[in-house]
Amino acid sequence: MLIVMKADATEREIADVVRVITEMGLRPHPLPGAQRTAIGITGNPGSVDTSHFENLPGVAEAIRVSKPYKLVTLDLKPEKTVIKIGDATIGGDELAIIGGPCAIESREQAFAVAEAVRRSGARFFRGGAFKPRTSPYAFQGLGEEGLKILAEVREAFGLKIVTEAVDEESVDLVERYGDVLQIGARNMQNFSLLRRAGRSPLPVLLKRGLSAMLDEWLLAAEYIMSEGNYNVILCERGVRTFAQHTRNTLDLAAIPAVRRISHLPVVVDPSHGTGKNYMVTPLARAGVAAGADGLIIEVHNQPERALSDGAQSLTLEQYDHLVAEVRAIHEVIAPAPVG
Ligand code: PEP
Ligand code: MN
Repeated sequence: MLIVMKADATEREIADVVRVITEMGLRPHPLPGAQRTAIGITGNPGSVDTSHFENLPGVAEAIRVSKPYKLVTLDLKPEKTVIKIGDATIGGDELAIIGGPCAIESREQAFAVAEAVRRSGARFFRGGAFKPRTSPYAFQGLGEEGLKILAEVREAFGLKIVTEAVDEESVDLVERYGDVLQIGARNMQNFSLLRRAGRSPLPVLLKRGLSAMLDEWLLAAEYIMSEGNYNVILCERGVRTFAQHTRNTLDLAAIPAVRRISHLPVVVDPSHGTGKNYMVTPLARAGVAAGADGLIIEVHNQPERALSDGAQSLTLEQYDHLVAEVRAIHEVIAPAPVG
């Protein structure tokens, strides 16, 4: 169920509704919006009678939600969620660029790439310290040492750190060193990890699973939100199809499809979405043109020597060029300023 408060409802009235929900043994999720606050209810709302709420002061409407998701939907929050990470945002007017290597390999490598990322005007630096690799013998990441290098990058360049956690233990570490917690495609349905991310103070960048339908992806976001973390960024990174000319098929239709249902921001990863260096720039352009709130781009100072995903990593020059192009595209399609 969903309680829509009146536009002029007071803080006190909202708090009273929250208390009533809690006393019923259910969990309230108040989400303030531009026009009004709505309160999602999770727990066991199936049997709850709407009349419990309709007459409470400040309540405009109590609505039964028949969809499988309750918190990700536009019914709860009709305007887009803007996620604030320090002085940077994802989902706002600014196109969010998250650039960096697939994996942190050394301090020298991370600093060389971060310098270019900072120079491009991007606000976010990516880099894995825990790598979910197909082979157990492939480079698995530097672990905590990699996170320490990322923390140094933040200090030196003022970039926000986006980095993956692969299990609950690594979430603890990412919380210590990072700014945005990435959940990888392979873990999109690791439900205990999603719940742990839902109890994290960090925003979560949730990658779409390798073969996830839209509903499954949104329900994964719902897992995180149901634990009280409403700062979820969806990331389209391609899905498995019969195509052999790409590593994955980047599903750009997912952007308008998500928009129609959810208030959450969506970023596009054309690096994993194609797997090929020469395809990254065209698909990055297309992603921004299709309405993405940002891009996550793998870039390396020596792609031919990269310990992971070298084939899809851009050179520093290619990356620079891409950022200039996608900014120009974003300017064209961004809504005109009001006034
Ligand atoms: C990554 O971002 O380096 C990564 C492993 O991505 P994905 O989970 O989308 O494969
Ligand atoms: Mn990668």
